Amino acid sequence: MLQTNISSHLYGFTDLKSLNERGPLVISYGKGIYVYDTKGNKYLDANSGLWNVCAGFDHQGLIEVAKKQYEKFAGYHSLFGRLSEETLELSKKLIEVSPFSQGRVFFCNSGSEANDTMIKMLWMFNARKGQPNKRKIITRINGYHGVTIGASSMTAKPYNKEFGLPSSEFIHVDCPHYWKYGLENESEEEFSLRIASKLENIILKENPDTIAGFVAEPVQGAGGVIPPSKNYFDLIQPILKKYQIPLIADEVICGFGRTGELWGCDTYNIKPDIIISSKCLTAGYFPMGAVIVDKNFSDKFVEVSEEAEEFPHGFTAGGHPVGCAIALKAIDVIINEGLLENVKQVSPYFMERLNEFNEYPNIGETRGIGLMAALEMVKDKKNKIPFEGHLNMGDKVANKSIDNGLICRPLGPAIVLCPQFIINRSQIDEIFNNLHKTIKDIFS
Ligand SMILES: *Cc1c(COP(=O)(O)O)cnc(C)c1O
Repeated sequence: MLQTNISSHLYGFTDLKSLNERGPLVISYGKGIYVYDTKGNKYLDANSGLWNVCAGFDHQGLIEVAKKQYEKFAGYHSLFGRLSEETLELSKKLIEVSPFSQGRVFFCNSGSEANDTMIKMLWMFNARKGQPNKRKIITRINGYHGVTIGASSMTAKPYNKEFGLPSSEFIHVDCPHYWKYGLENESEEEFSLRIASKLENIILKENPDTIAGFVAEPVQGAGGVIPPSKNYFDLIQPILKKYQIPLIADEVICGFGRTGELWGCDTYNIKPDIIISSKCLTAGYFPMGAVIVDKNFSDKFVEVSEEAEEFPHGFTAGGHPVGCAIALKAIDVIINEGLLENVKQVSPYFMERLNEFNEYPNIGETRGIGLMAALEMVKDKKNKIPFEGHLNMGDKVANKSIDNGLICRPLGPAIVLCPQFIINRSQIDEIFNNLHKTIKDIFS
């Protein structure tokens, strides 16, 4: 049994058997890319908290800005036409750094809320434009979009069956992971062509007039770091255009530098209509989500909202002045303190060290881009057969790794690494030397 002080917390996304055996890891503070537990042990957190703390756990500039903003104006909303000046300033900044030349931003408190907000915008818009049946949302298998009801339905992971989701308006199509889903003797280009043409068939079968949007992460993150197969986005974008289906880029992980460009859309030449942002937007220092809408759609949406009198939606803490001040600073830090540049610079070395792991008989594939990577564990490398679920290899690796001083998260059969944008070469060595040790410990 857990001690009462730790058993009063209800643990989400946590293997409870392992928790009961080991207890939680209680973190006291962080410095740079390291965290320290309450017993004084030091860990390199190779997951940037949860993909989001990208500028260090103790960035003095960010902390100063938060303190100052608390002194200036410590809390407000952004509804009924009232909002803080920091909220307006951040809206302007986000459009400026976004791929859109003009547009508008809606603020909420998480990536999930941003996705649900986006769905409500599309549904309201289509209904007001005389297309009340244009409601279906297409996402991809292994896509992760969050945990609110809409976002859960968009997330194509088996665990959402626990909640009776997805609901019927959500369609899950092929995941562009060639290693896993490519057919024998099929080239990567042929694979992309095949799943793109399958997408078109599904659109036709469902009736394009019933489809409100196609939502995709540039690189699937929580699905196990899956960069798109060759030509994938070049092939599907003309299809979406042909049937006038808006493309929504869920940039919650990729946005603000993770792939080595400011946006995953820049990395893969994606031209979205709407961008969903969160995680690194505040460098992990404040809960915030944002829906960034291209002028093309935002103009029409504002018109429709005027007809309805308002967009009847909003969160009490959305556009919080402290969050906005922090986000403004985080964007400045990422762009002007060399973080984005550093991702570009160290990424080839990060990938080089990652690829060493291909030599292990129980690592089937290594993959990644920028500072996001995965190692896929297999029982049978030749036939790409994963370990049985009951062996819980993921948790074994995660626990062993923590015992060795490295925090890295397994996602199903994949070990995920996504270190902070400030990481240097010797810290990259530290991650991979440590991981070699763990892999040897587990598989020998
Ligand atoms: C984390 C994540 C979300 C959900 O964000 P929360 O802040 O956890 O609600 C949505 N989309 C993607 C791609 C994510 O990685």
